[in-house]
Amino acid sequence: MKAMNYRGPFRVRVSEKPIPGIQHPEDAIVKVTHSCICGSDLHLYHGLVPDTRVGSTFGHEFVGIVEEIGPEVTELRVGDRVLVPFNIACGKCAFCKQELYGNCHESNPSATAVGGIFGYSHTAGGFDGGQAEYVRVPYANFGPTVIPEGMHVEDALLLTDVVPTGYQAAEMGGIQEGDTVVVFGAGPVGIMAARCAWLFGAARVIIIDHLEYRLDFARKYARCEAYNFRSLEDVVLFLKKTTDWLGADVCIDAVGGDAAGDTMQTITGRKLMLQAGSATALHWAINSVKKGGIISVVGVYGPTDNLVPIGNVVNKGLTIRANQASVKRLLPRLIDHVMAGRLNPREIITHRFPLSEVADAYRIFSAKLDNCIKPVLLP
Ligand code: NAD
Ligand code: ZN
Repeated sequence: MKAMNYRGPFRVRVSEKPIPGIQHPEDAIVKVTHSCICGSDLHLYHGLVPDTRVGSTFGHEFVGIVEEIGPEVTELRVGDRVLVPFNIACGKCAFCKQELYGNCHESNPSATAVGGIFGYSHTAGGFDGGQAEYVRVPYANFGPTVIPEGMHVEDALLLTDVVPTGYQAAEMGGIQEGDTVVVFGAGPVGIMAARCAWLFGAARVIIIDHLEYRLDFARKYARCEAYNFRSLEDVVLFLKKTTDWLGADVCIDAVGGDAAGDTMQTITGRKLMLQAGSATALHWAINSVKKGGIISVVGVYGPTDNLVPIGNVVNKGLTIRANQASVKRLLPRLIDHVMAGRLNPREIITHRFPLSEVADAYRIFSAKLDNCIKPVLLP
């Protein structure tokens, strides 16, 4: 079969790989029809996630058709059209019992790492992903979900990650009626978080990025205020000023960090300088949220160690909540929102590429060329 193949930082291509087979009685093999590239894949592509092995296939946001099932799969049938959550979760371990499906202990028993994730390095279990013609789906009785009748396939596709992640970002922020919410990052995840913030009763939603085309898109799609941090002299000061000097109620980090360690040392007075790959957005969030406020972090930090201004967290009495999205937990209510038209996820898809053009797709999405918001690969 044809599959995306990681060759090293900034180098991906399509190559031939054997079609995966059933390895466990609860496995399914899914023939992939649509597979996104995610901002999380960019951390892999940039070579910043530990133990990302040459030859691995990325892709954790995909939908397809069940091609084969193991003898103990009772919840799926060959031919079912399924959306597959990016978390690989057994549904039975101590963490799954708490609906922490992003932290499943069976799919990735390391105490320090996330649960298993499709196509997300050996630190997330070493599973091959869905940027391929076929993918092996473990715990097939639990994760894969039959696409509801009448749902557009591209809406289903975005329910595998972006929608639950944006929604959980808003949920973890504990948004109350009337709150001001600031979202850092106007990528697919930040835009979805801004859109979802309204569902929780926010009175004001502000998004911060430096890509004008994404800010424009966020204004339209999420109907929020959008500001370019490059044209603000001081992001923290601006956010304080626009919130009666109190600060926002909730700040969401939908950026994450790419670089090893942290480059945040470049603080000039109160101004935090952006450096590619730093945790700048998280610092801005901590410093601009109100006292007693909540920071919700869904941005992924490739190298997990980073410096945060913990003194400010203590002195301001902040709550920081963070996690990978627990997709399966959120699916029932998100399917409702999509079917009722309160969320229109597929509107964020700007690019569709055949799998053979995977190298171009990564290059364009990584460098934010051609007004790209969300690219989809079509195996
Ligand atoms: P993306 O790369 O398309 O978007 C990131 C955006 O952040 C870009 O538009 C970039 O210009 C902007 N940005 C960079 N530095 C910034 C700063 N200091 N302040 C404000 N904006 C800044 O990625 P995406 O697909 O939207 O994903 C966003 C993050 O969410 C990534 O870290 C990704 O790994 C993570 N993610 C987490 C989960 C989860 O379950 N927790 C799921 C999906 C993605
Ligand atoms: Zn993703």
